[in-house]
Parts: sequence; C-alpha cells; structure tokens
Amino acid sequence: MSAMSAMSADARDRILRVADLIDRPGVSRRVDLAVPASADLELDMATLEGDIRLTGVLESVVDGILLRGTLVAELQMACARCLADLEQVVAADVVELFSTPSEDSDDIDPGYEIVDTTIDLDTLTRDALVPAVPYRPLCAEDCKGLCVQCGTNRNETECSCEDSIVDARWAALEKLQLGDCDTP
Ligand SMILES: [Zn+2]
Ligand SMILES: [Zn+2]
Repeated sequence: MSAMSAMSADARDRILRVADLIDRPGVSRRVDLAVPASADLELDMATLEGDIRLTGVLESVVDGILLRGTLVAELQMACARCLADLEQVVAADVVELFSTPSEDSDDIDPGYEIVDTTIDLDTLTRDALVPAVPYRPLCAEDCKGLCVQCGTNRNETECSCEDSIVDARWAALEKLQLGDCDTP
C-alpha cells in the first residue's frame, strides 16, 4: 500500500473500491460521488469549479464492472463575444466498462482497468468532460459583443463606429446592384 499512501488526497478520492462487485454478475450499486479533478486536467478555455459530480450505477457484469451514469461539472468560462465571465454547468452521460487485465486480453483501454479491486475514475472523468466543454459559450443569446473598432462592450454602451462600417458596406453593395441594373 506504499504507492497508495504516496498519492495526493485528491488522487485517492478518485479511486473507488469495487471488491463487493467483482465476479458477482447482476449485483449493482448506486454511486453519488464528488470526484476531484487532477491538477493537470486541462480544459479548452475553461476552469473547473469544485469537484466533478458523478451519479449513476456500478454494475457487475461478466466482463468486469460497468459504470453507467451522468457527470456534472461547473465551469468558469468567458463569453465568446464580450469576454464577460460566465458559469457553465455541463453534463455528460457516461457508459464505461472497467475490466480486469488478463494475459490474453491486451485490448483494455488504459485507465479502465480494475486494479487491486479498485477502479480509478481519473481517465473516465477526463474522457467525458473534455468534449463536454462548450465551444463558444455566450453570456446571453443576444450578446452584442465588443466593438471591433474601439473595444467598447456593446451590451453596456452604444458606440457609433461599427454602424458606420456597416453603412459603408451597404452603400458599396447598393452601388454594385445599381450598376448591375444599368448594364443592358
Ligand atoms: Zn457576452
Ligand atoms: Zn466602437
């Protein structure tokens, strides 16, 4: 157990004892866990707030232990248009099989092994959370964003520069259309 005691407290909290489910197909147990993310978890433009909540069922099956559930995490992000801080709660369904490594099966995904009657939830939480991060979160559907000219947050203050660009474009377009009409 020396390897276990050398781990950080967070790493220990990601490890789940499953001795009660090994080789007992049909037996299941509900889980409701707060899983701390590992320090090296990197999310695209997002910071995890607090622990990852994992609720679901652990079921003993012939091939190992099946975890079926939902993972919920609170992320701190920035609006893609105006850069305001915003909180995003993301949820992801998970269905993963943890198996006991044996000599004739080297097809177990790394991170999904049953080791010493325990399973480590680190890989599972990463695999589920990383793709769940919103690509372009918005503080509001109708967020007006920052003015590309002067940087003003257009949700808070009106500025006139962007309108003049749009006007100029319209004028150019109108000229073009008129030109088309004139050609016989
Ligand atoms: Zn915004
Ligand atoms: Zn402006």
